[in-house]
Amino acid sequence: MFSKAIIALATLAVAARAAPSAASGPCAVWFNVLDDIQANLFDGGECGEEVHESLRLTFHDAIGFSPKLFAEGKFGGGGADGSIMAFSDIETNFHANGGIDDIVETQRPFALKHNVSFGDFIQFAGAVGVSNCAGGPRLQFLAGRSNVSEPSPDLLVPEPSDSNDKIFARMADAGFSPAELVALLASHSVAAQDHVDASIPGTPFDSTPSAFDTQFFVETLLKGTLFPGNGSNVGESKSALEGEFRLFSDNNIARDSRSACHWQAFITDHDLMVSSFTNVMAKLATLGQDRSTLTDCSNTLNDIHHACEAMPFPALDTAPGAATSVSPVPPS
Ligand code: CA
Ligand code: CA
Repeated sequence: MFSKAIIALATLAVAARAAPSAASGPCAVWFNVLDDIQANLFDGGECGEEVHESLRLTFHDAIGFSPKLFAEGKFGGGGADGSIMAFSDIETNFHANGGIDDIVETQRPFALKHNVSFGDFIQFAGAVGVSNCAGGPRLQFLAGRSNVSEPSPDLLVPEPSDSNDKIFARMADAGFSPAELVALLASHSVAAQDHVDASIPGTPFDSTPSAFDTQFFVETLLKGTLFPGNGSNVGESKSALEGEFRLFSDNNIARDSRSACHWQAFITDHDLMVSSFTNVMAKLATLGQDRSTLTDCSNTLNDIHHACEAMPFPALDTAPGAATSVSPVPPS
């Protein structure tokens, strides 16, 4: 059984590596980008700080899109258009974008080097990054966003100190239901705060910040008992665990009648969490964009090797009983 499982795993690995990775066409460049950012942005395919920040950036670029403003005759932003990188001098000064300048400046040289649009790069880096996390999803990646954009208007990015009514209204304007908002918040399972309490940068929102698991949804529902850093900050609620941070907005969305059942459903259903997140990210990543003009380059993400050694490899459909005796996948 044991060796059979190993052979199955090895076959799987060979099949993955044999996939065409130097294809020509509009997706070809993304294989090069993938290799570059795995090695030089994500520290060899890890799920660490740069992944957390890259995932955050996908949202902060894309959510700058307001049909409500357009309806009022104003410019409502271009959504997932790379504006936050093209106009970083403007957008990173928005209060809700505090601290995001670091990842914008870290990513920018990669986009320029490979001559891809900022909008494409931001969404690709997020998709690659989250797939590095144990249990992380393979997101859709569409390429071909224009590199021409205008600065997003301010006040479109929700703040952790905002009321639920305000957050739900803003998200509804951008086209997201409370259920979809909860799905987006699955990203907080692999995230950390830096600036809500600047005295404890890097404090995670759950106890497993390198695993895309359901812990965030469980732990946010525990009774809050403590502030992990220098006390109560604007946008902070009491957390249940030492060394863990709870955002005011996460605390409230977990307990709101409009979202609580969606929140609770993820606790016992990792597959539902992953599929809901995958669907909502496909929507977020093309907000304000014409999907019919984009090219599906999701196959580039198939080249990602799950290199995490800290967590067990996810169960595979091999011979019954063998799964528990499979050793972690050796590094290639
Ligand atoms: Ca934008
Ligand atoms: Ca987690």
